[in-house]
Amino acid sequence: MFKIDTHTVILGAGFTGLVIADLLTRKGYDVILLEKESLPGGLSRTIDFDGFRFDLGGHCLYLNDKEYSEYIKYILGGSSDILIRHDRKSSIFFDGKLLRYPPSILGLFSYKKSDILGFLLGFFVNTAKNGPSLEEWLVSRVGKVIHNLYFRDYTKKVWGLPANLISADWAEQRIGKINKISLVKNLFKEMRNNKENSRTFYYTKNGIGKICDGLVDRLSGKASILFNAKINKIEHHQNKLKYLRFTQGEEEKHLYFKNIVSTIPLIPLLDYLPPCKKPSVLDLRNTIRYRDLVLVFMTFNKKSILNEHWVYFPQADVPFARLSEPKNWSLGMVEQDKTSLCVELFCNFNDSLWNKQDSELVDMVIDSLAQNSIVTKNELSNALVMRLPFAYPLLYLGYSDNLNKVTEFLSYFNNLYLAGRNGTHSYYDLKECVDSSKNTVNDLINNDH
Ligand SMILES: Cc1cc2nc3c(=O)[nH]c(=O)nc-3n(C[C@H](O)[C@H](O)[C@H](O)COP(=O)(O)OP(=O)(O)OC[C@H]3O[C@@H](n4cnc5c(N)ncnc54)[C@H](O)[C@@H]3O)c2cc1C
Repeated sequence: MFKIDTHTVILGAGFTGLVIADLLTRKGYDVILLEKESLPGGLSRTIDFDGFRFDLGGHCLYLNDKEYSEYIKYILGGSSDILIRHDRKSSIFFDGKLLRYPPSILGLFSYKKSDILGFLLGFFVNTAKNGPSLEEWLVSRVGKVIHNLYFRDYTKKVWGLPANLISADWAEQRIGKINKISLVKNLFKEMRNNKENSRTFYYTKNGIGKICDGLVDRLSGKASILFNAKINKIEHHQNKLKYLRFTQGEEEKHLYFKNIVSTIPLIPLLDYLPPCKKPSVLDLRNTIRYRDLVLVFMTFNKKSILNEHWVYFPQADVPFARLSEPKNWSLGMVEQDKTSLCVELFCNFNDSLWNKQDSELVDMVIDSLAQNSIVTKNELSNALVMRLPFAYPLLYLGYSDNLNKVTEFLSYFNNLYLAGRNGTHSYYDLKECVDSSKNTVNDLINNDH
């Protein structure tokens, strides 16, 4: 039996796993990362296809926080990539028109007068009460008319559930506090008092994956990343996890550790752990839900398609919810004189959309793009489909009680730490993953004796 020993094992070499490895190795700790894929980066990877580059859904960097901004620059110092600053350009595609989002005073003119009136009435003469669901949260802020027009179908498309069954936690985190004074003020600048709508963002010249590549370069010679690792079981003695059994190729190996950090989704983690009797682990497992993503990457024989970074598609008769044109983020993403689109279709693992043939998915997307006069079919040069499980934690109404039960069960193991987006089942962006990594490393070092 092949045995390995380390101070800390990290499950997953996505952004969070790599940041934690960087922070720990800089303090002199011995670290091994186990990654199921053959590449690092997880959700923040950039793939090469046919001379083009694609993020798994365009990833922007909000660098308003000085410490975070300096950390990103430190990481990129390990690679030759550079940061490009952008003023966000995004629109809602509705009734064949691009409507500026978030709305500004000038952008309001692209909306129908009746919609503007509905918005103003919904905002200023609105008696709807706030509540725990996303629908209540939205209706109490923008009114029923605008909710039904722009948000209802989009929410259903993205989350697979109506807004009255989704927790308002997501909106609280991402859209933040909208109040009447700030709205009026921001209409003149743009509604940008929150991350999701922040006006300025940064992007890496050759794709967001360069951030994780930079971290891998920083870790070279300091930490080992074991790729294509299949974890079989994590063994324990009383309330300490002791070692894990995993295979890489044919041979099963035993990896002994003092501490274990998990950045992988909670479902596989629960499967590797010794079962919990009360409440049964199976019940806990089934309460953790996700929204999965099918990405269709398309290359085109034309110079440019749109002027935006993102376009949102709320209408139910369009199969995708969002698309981005990587060329507008960086010329490093495309072949000269050509362009590409990254189209995002939200679904559930193993549902009918997930299980469609790649060619059916490409046909469905190009047909819809052509019907809406965004491109013509003969401009399409090549396409690649990628399926991304565990893309979004699904924060359904009532999820937090169940999540608390799961984390309570996991807290029995006092050398197990949960970090990052899927590790904690939180709707974290990259900045929040860095915060989560720092907190985890502090806890681990404080408890390490
Ligand atoms: C479509 C989309 C767009 C986004 N846009 C932005 C954006 O614009 N700006 C922003 O800041 N953030 C954005 N995010 C969020 C950002 O991608 C995540 O916050 C971040 O990548 C999460 O990193 P992580 O390491 O915590 O998780 P992950 O990236 O999920 O990493 C987990 C790693 O664990 C590995 N793994 C999983 N299961 C196992 C297993 N059983 N055994 C071993 N390894 C395993 C995975 O392969 C992966 O490498 C976006 C996310 C998505 C899905």
